[in-house]
Amino acid sequence: MIRDIVSRYDLDRVSIATLASHSSLQIFHGAKMEGFKTVAIVTSDRLWFYEHFKHLIDSFIVLNSWRDLCRNDVVEKLVSLNSVIVPHGSYVEYVGLDCAENIAVPIFGLRKLFRVEADQWAKMGLLQRAGIPIPRVYRFGEEIDRPVIVKLPGAKGGRGYFIAKNSREVEEGLRKRVEQGLIKTFEEAMIQEYLVGVTAYYHYFYSPILNRVEILGADIRYETNVDGLRRVPPDVVAEMGIEPTFVVVGNLPLVLRESLLPKILEYGIRFVEETKKSLPPGAIGPFCLESIIDDNMNIKVFEFSGRIVAGTNIYVNGSPYSYLYWSEPMSTGRRIAREIRLAIEKNRIEEVLT
Ligand code: AMP
Repeated sequence: MIRDIVSRYDLDRVSIATLASHSSLQIFHGAKMEGFKTVAIVTSDRLWFYEHFKHLIDSFIVLNSWRDLCRNDVVEKLVSLNSVIVPHGSYVEYVGLDCAENIAVPIFGLRKLFRVEADQWAKMGLLQRAGIPIPRVYRFGEEIDRPVIVKLPGAKGGRGYFIAKNSREVEEGLRKRVEQGLIKTFEEAMIQEYLVGVTAYYHYFYSPILNRVEILGADIRYETNVDGLRRVPPDVVAEMGIEPTFVVVGNLPLVLRESLLPKILEYGIRFVEETKKSLPPGAIGPFCLESIIDDNMNIKVFEFSGRIVAGTNIYVNGSPYSYLYWSEPMSTGRRIAREIRLAIEKNRIEEVLT
């Protein structure tokens, strides 16, 4: 179906469309740098803000609710503009899984991956099959034999997560979250071994056109209050009974020891290879592995994103890594547009769209 739609597109007039949120300004900026038209799909309450960036946006499609994205008139409008949707970290969360994966508009990236990403166990299974080290994972009811982090489903920026030392604390914490309406059942939560070390998030890009995985950057998520706890003496933390929380407030740039890069690139390549095997045609474009590095330089990956992550917003003008490949300012947003442009030029557009 998508092939038919693409076959009717005027490839000299492709628009890059995305939901006006998350990393959309970077995506629009990158699209403009590569000579594309852009479409901002925006909710009415945010329109005023994005109008301040009119120089990056050619068309606005205004919705009352993100859930209207799959309405026929909206889809028709997108197709009439020869749109390619770039899904970002908020896309599935905002429009819902069914609309996200079934929309009759070409998507830059692998739409099959959305369903895997929505299931925390399927996600960890994919990493494991790829041969990427992951923390131990537990289901509710299994005996907890070490400190764990309990994660709630959905991309809500770490809201509601908690640390527990045993099965009793897991159950107590989950009961509270059910009462707060954050989850419906205990089984929705994923329980992971709590890893000690520093967090590091790697931004990759897989190019089907150049047949290579690029490391486009890395970041650290700045999370409250866990990243602030070191400012408080441990005895005061204990006295006040402060519990660590993991709510993201922003991202900090990270440049890694060069000796870590081979392993990081290898994990990126393994990720792509596994998606090619289990979800053909496999990953396309940006993805991110989220990890903790311990004091033996072991890297364990506790989460991935199959789309552009907000940490790439640090590098709208390119990163120390993207410069090594391109010798020009190359954000992830621009890299997406570059891939689409290369694919069009080489008559291979169907290889980057699903
Ligand atoms: P996530 O929603 O999986 O990206 O996790 C949110 C945050 O929780 C991460 O950025 C980390 O700070 C923390 N975190 C997640 N998983 C683990 C883990 N297994 N061990 C330690 N910290 C974790």
